[in-house]
Amino acid sequence: MGLTPISYDTLRVLIGYECNLGCGYCCNEQPRFRNGIRPTRLADLDLSPYKVVCVSGGEPLLHLHRVRQVARLRANRSQLFVLYTNGTLLTRGVAQSLAAMRVDAINVGLHQPSQFGYIISNVEVACKDLPIKLRYHAQERLEGQCLKMWPHLSWRFWRMNDCNRANERRVVLTDWAPQGGVNANFVGPRLYSLAQTK
Ligand code: SF4
Repeated sequence: MGLTPISYDTLRVLIGYECNLGCGYCCNEQPRFRNGIRPTRLADLDLSPYKVVCVSGGEPLLHLHRVRQVARLRANRSQLFVLYTNGTLLTRGVAQSLAAMRVDAINVGLHQPSQFGYIISNVEVACKDLPIKLRYHAQERLEGQCLKMWPHLSWRFWRMNDCNRANERRVVLTDWAPQGGVNANFVGPRLYSLAQTK
């Protein structure tokens, strides 16, 4: 029996691996996942075959101009354009810029439970009345707590090391100036370091 061909409907574009958090469980730090991410130049990036384009990192908001450059390559308005961020740099000004780029949705990955409330309220204020859908991601073991405290929010809960998606092709952009264009809201190399919480 032959193998069923994989059908990719989603492209995940990693702006880079840089992040202002240091989660011990980060998929990018694990060679078995990182090896499947193909290095690609911006000039070679073709978004047109995909229904969904996800922009992530690392933390993509460290380099807002890079997000903008990828957004400009979007094939058409029916293509869903989703930003993945840890939410720590998502100010009102940044959210307005993302709305101007026509980002459809923002997935906010929450990592340190003691910071959840702070980040959620900042993100909600930053994105208020903008045409961007918000969804929060947290570890599965925190599901009950999150749904109890914030039942009105949209959530997705992830399992440790569940890093690959069968329908998703992943590339990392390589042709950026290494120190150019750091977002003005960048507050430091690491906000806090997160140990593995498995
Ligand atoms: S927020 Fe944590 S899991 Fe996400 S890219 Fe940064 S270090 Fe990795």
